[in-house]
Amino acid sequence: MQGLTAPPAWATKAKRTLDAVRAAVAAGTKRTFTMHWTEDAVRNLLLELVGDKCWYCETLIVRADITVDHYRPKSEVLDVPGHPGYWWLAYDMSNYRIACRHCNSGGARYNGVREGRAKGSQFPLIGGTRARTAADDLDREQPLLLDPAHHSDPDLLGFDSAGYARRSNTPYSLAETKRGLCRADETIRILALNDSHLVPLRSRLMREVGVLARYGDKTDIQQLIDDKVGPKAPYSSAAGMALALHRACDRPAAAPTTATTPTPAVDPARSRVDLQDLLQHLDPDDLKAGITLTGRHEKKVHQAVLNHEGQINVLGRPWRTPTTAARAATGSNKIDGWDFWRLTIAGVEQTLAEFRVTHFPPPAPA
Ligand SMILES: [Zn+2]
Repeated sequence: MQGLTAPPAWATKAKRTLDAVRAAVAAGTKRTFTMHWTEDAVRNLLLELVGDKCWYCETLIVRADITVDHYRPKSEVLDVPGHPGYWWLAYDMSNYRIACRHCNSGGARYNGVREGRAKGSQFPLIGGTRARTAADDLDREQPLLLDPAHHSDPDLLGFDSAGYARRSNTPYSLAETKRGLCRADETIRILALNDSHLVPLRSRLMREVGVLARYGDKTDIQQLIDDKVGPKAPYSSAAGMALALHRACDRPAAAPTTATTPTPAVDPARSRVDLQDLLQHLDPDDLKAGITLTGRHEKKVHQAVLNHEGQINVLGRPWRTPTTAARAATGSNKIDGWDFWRLTIAGVEQTLAEFRVTHFPPPAPA
């Protein structure tokens, strides 16, 4: 996970082991990977981010070993003969993902039939140049498997109201078009994200969120919804999708046609400007690449990316409001995201609130 710093004592130990691995690679002898990644010193840092759940399938991991997966496999790459594995990333925290046993090693089932070999040491590319040594640039690789820690990959996965993982409506990348395949589809297949256990769990959760959302104006109900879509909740991406589906269906389909319908009174002081409204005032090319937001809380700097859909990506998933994103990033529920997140436009750093007020000044008092 980008931005995580390994504890110094652990880093020293890991460096020693990596030096030994490097020497073995140079000498052409057997490499020994001591499993420092299973130690609480680093695993707890990863668990703090999204709780005890698998970063790939979002299942809570309870009463089972919580494994740390290497996104880029450390000792071999399946189906790439002669590749030594990404051994130089064996002790790099940015390569670690929490994974359940099924996502990491297989065992998921479709309708009673055992499915697939899961992620394991698979790391197929759909384009770019594969890195083979520590000197090679990882950014030149175009991985097939969606990365839960990437700023925009989680956006590519959606869920339908029946609980099935589906590709989202995000346009395909050039590499996908060229290869005639879809990263989301392939990820769903490799990780068996629609196995017979996951779909009913997601489906039930999405029904619950849909029902709760009808009464979401009550504070205690809103709290229940927040708990279900919070980053540490199981299947929170599907729960967030259920909320979005509810809101999309809840909007009036057309303007009222009868003159007898009373016009609702609008209180201009309460009229809301949301993230989507800001998009028209931002550079489309910048938005396409993603605009970096930074925020500081308790001496820690947090980073997020504002995407072209007006969502803030942080902790590997999109959030629809600055405040939910800020609270997810910091773990504090007292932060106003509009004051927390800062962006730089034409060299000027400002908060989202300052940017909003520039473009949407509050109405003058009557
Ligand atoms: Zn999993």
